[in-house]
Amino acid sequence: MKITGKTKIVGIFGYPIEHTFSPLMHNAAFSALGLDYCYIPFEVQSEDLKSAVEGIRALNIRGVNITVPHKEAVIKYLDELSKEAKLIGAVNTIENKGGKLIGHNTDGRGFIKSLWDDAKTRVNGKSVLLLGAGGASKGVAVSCALEGASEIIIANRTVKRADELVGYLKRNFKKTKFSAIPLDGHELAKGIACADILINATSIGLKGKGLLPISQKDLHRDLVIYDLIYNPQITPLLKIAGRAGVKRAVNGLGMLIYQGALAFQIWTGKNPPVDVMKKAVL
Ligand code: NDP
Repeated sequence: MKITGKTKIVGIFGYPIEHTFSPLMHNAAFSALGLDYCYIPFEVQSEDLKSAVEGIRALNIRGVNITVPHKEAVIKYLDELSKEAKLIGAVNTIENKGGKLIGHNTDGRGFIKSLWDDAKTRVNGKSVLLLGAGGASKGVAVSCALEGASEIIIANRTVKRADELVGYLKRNFKKTKFSAIPLDGHELAKGIACADILINATSIGLKGKGLLPISQKDLHRDLVIYDLIYNPQITPLLKIAGRAGVKRAVNGLGMLIYQGALAFQIWTGKNPPVDVMKKAVL
């Protein structure tokens, strides 16, 4: 990569930031298309977020991704929000449009694109069982509702959190049926039996985070399974799905790639080279 006086800077704000795959993914994409851009990781602590965002304007940075723990806190420093970012209440991409900072959320749309690309599944008219009620779950739930899911059941360890998310979704989407259940027992087994799509948006499956209370006998072959976890690539849930003969079960790598690809498109206006981005991350 050759940095010149004309090179445009983009990057990512987060803390910690060492683990991020995004610089690899975006810089490979810029090289592949011969674009004079450079993507840099910025370690930003919470108390410095405001000045870091002001720095986007001051330094004419073209855009940044926002990751943990700033996705919600950054909103108050922005000039405008996209429809998805507003509904999800979190921003993962900032676009600097001539000094105006616009917050986007490409996580949910990244999920929808990956669900189609990797599992050949559309959400429209489907019944979705979503495990987890944190930030990722909210993004996925909003996107599934925007895509016309007929029903979304949220199962969470802390049922109160699932109830709150369901209340929010009910206020914003009138055509989808929503309910909250605990992440275990008979209700969970019944939810799986009735679902078309099972999505894991909990942290369970990450190394050292325990196992989901789901066994092989709970799953049916036609269930589509999407695990947001991508490290390890064959997650514990995907192992069980394999044993149960589930035909379509994928990890969250595609979501990571597509959220990046959509951010790339926002910043450059070019079609992202998705295969190059995928190869860089793998
Ligand atoms: P949050 O911390 O906001 O939410 C974590 C969720 O996991 C909560 O629902 C929490 O339940 C549940 N949970 C955590 N530990 C346990 C446990 N031991 N037993 C039962 N439930 C548990 O995290 P995020 O929503 O931001 O992220 C969730 C997952 O999604 C992470 O693994 C993250 O890596 C992944 N992710 C993947 C993306 C991708 O591109 N593929 C994008 C974003 C996230 P409770 O409310 O009871 O605490």
